Amino acid sequence: MGKVLIIGAGGVGTVVAHKVAQNADVFTDIMIASRTKEKCDKIVAEIGNPQIKTAKVDADNVAELVALFNDFKPEMVINVALPYQDLTIMEACLQAGVNYLDTANYEPKDVAHFEYSWQWAYHERFKQAGLTAILGCGFDPGVSGIYTAYAAKHYFDEIHYLDIVDCNAGNHHKAFATNFNPEINIREITQNGRYYENGKWVTTEPLEIHKDLTYPNIGPKDSYLLYHEELESLVKNFPTIKRARFWMTFGQEYLTHLRVIQNIGMARIDEVDYNGVKIVPLQFLKAVLPNPQDLGENYEGETSIGCRIRGLKDGKERTYYVYNNCSHQEAYKETGMQGVSYTTGVPAMIGALMFFKGEWKRPGVNNVEEFNPDPFMEQLNKQGLPWHEVFDGDLEL
Ligand code: NDP
Repeated sequence: MGKVLIIGAGGVGTVVAHKVAQNADVFTDIMIASRTKEKCDKIVAEIGNPQIKTAKVDADNVAELVALFNDFKPEMVINVALPYQDLTIMEACLQAGVNYLDTANYEPKDVAHFEYSWQWAYHERFKQAGLTAILGCGFDPGVSGIYTAYAAKHYFDEIHYLDIVDCNAGNHHKAFATNFNPEINIREITQNGRYYENGKWVTTEPLEIHKDLTYPNIGPKDSYLLYHEELESLVKNFPTIKRARFWMTFGQEYLTHLRVIQNIGMARIDEVDYNGVKIVPLQFLKAVLPNPQDLGENYEGETSIGCRIRGLKDGKERTYYVYNNCSHQEAYKETGMQGVSYTTGVPAMIGALMFFKGEWKRPGVNNVEEFNPDPFMEQLNKQGLPWHEVFDGDLEL
């Protein structure tokens, strides 16, 4: 008996719903709830399983969430709304006795700042309540942490250097579009870069450091150093790490658009007065940009995300590269969504599967790398995100 409530009916929520429905032996009772109920109903119609329930909920409102949880009585909530809702949903989970999983760490709306402290602060309360919270269970964060845990468990005595490399070599044939929620995406990319070295965090200008990295089946792509939230938990959970960095590819066309958007003030997240109405420019921009959920149909090419690791085994230095390539078209054929939503939604479903199978149950607030990676890695191969390994190759980093 696996009763699950999915919150959020965007690109990622759609993929989670498809994958949960495909694993009906584990997920016996499913509800999708979001701000706009019609979007949930549309997903159910596409899946073609009228047993899946839907509901309208404002996930900023704890009382509304608690009422919904007490009514449906899920064992676990998969939170794939926006990072702004993480704390209200966690609070409601505590009040109603529900386990929790998400794919992105909490961000306050008024400042683009990423850190786990707000969610880690819930650890004792989840532990006391006997409830499991699983943080950051998408691809990155998510699979990136599980790959690292798998490497640490099987191939290294000490991990010294970790580089997470994220390439989207797809083409959606739009002049400019983001692959997931534009507001969240642009906030992330326009931040200062940051990486960890010898016990300290080093800050860079936004997109200051970049280099060509070669991705399997894709070739060389200019890759930019960004701050990414899983670096914070990975250096804490693997203290032998001397340096941890995150790289993401961007095309010149994308960067030119981004520069213009910033220069003209459209990336601002503070309120401005427009004809007596308060608007946030970045939220307005989201309303006029292509909807990431509509990109799938004409999306060609693939993503390639992995971990490049250097460290010691039996006193000898070795390197290890583990990665997945995901085709946008294959993702679209299966779920109606492009590869970025797919690579996030599939791991979120697997995290919940791990919980319901009893593999990942640990009262408290946990990052994914704190659990046994083996059953998760096995499921990645079965659920559409197969991985590949390269031993002792040139990491380029
Ligand atoms: P979308 O914007 O497509 O979807 C978000 C959904 O949440 C929408 O259905 C939206 O409703 C709903 N929502 C927003 N606010 C509320 C609210 N207050 N109450 C109820 N529902 C609400 O985003 P994505 O699907 O692209 O992304 C979902 C999450 O996945 C994000 O947190 C994102 O950061 C994360 N992510 C993680 C990745 C990873 O690898 N770890 C990669 C990509 C994304 P409405 O439609 O009415 O606006």
